[in-house]
Amino acid sequence: MQEGMIDFRPKCDDCAALCCVMLPFDGGEDFGFDKAAGVACRHLTGHACRIHTDLVEQGFAGCHRYDCLGAGQRVVKEVYAGQSWRSDPTLIAPMEQAFRAMRHLHEDHALLEAAARLPLTEGEQAQRLALVADLDVVSQQTQASLIAYETGPKPRAVRNFLAQLKARLQPRR
Ligand code: SF4
Repeated sequence: MQEGMIDFRPKCDDCAALCCVMLPFDGGEDFGFDKAAGVACRHLTGHACRIHTDLVEQGFAGCHRYDCLGAGQRVVKEVYAGQSWRSDPTLIAPMEQAFRAMRHLHEDHALLEAAARLPLTEGEQAQRLALVADLDVVSQQTQASLIAYETGPKPRAVRNFLAQLKARLQPRR
């Protein structure tokens, strides 16, 4: 996808509560109990959180802060054609993999978009645009394309580019 075309806003109504199943958390300040990855949270009913309007008060500030950057609905709609792990629990493991990779892809897009607001040289801007163009080249992501993204060289190329900017932005002593 081209720059500006990714919708980073989470749309829970178009998702299947992937974050409430796929992500692990440890009980403590941010979460009320321990939960393993791939296990539905006990506060989940269908695809909805029973305590959604009351997360912080109920001890789930971590859920309140979490942002999938629009990865959840894209996995469900684009990769799984609206299917849910609820009706087919064998989908939990592959959906977890796809969700993690899509979240990574969206985070890399978001970081490269944020980099556009920095005072870049012409060369850096060209490098940034080339990375954006290379991130999400398939018109529709699949399980295979997401795994290829996560295990391929692109995430490292994004990290290297951002690290180079960070070094350049260090204040001179
Ligand atoms: S507390 Fe609610 S938002 Fe947090 S993981 Fe459980 S169901 Fe999801």
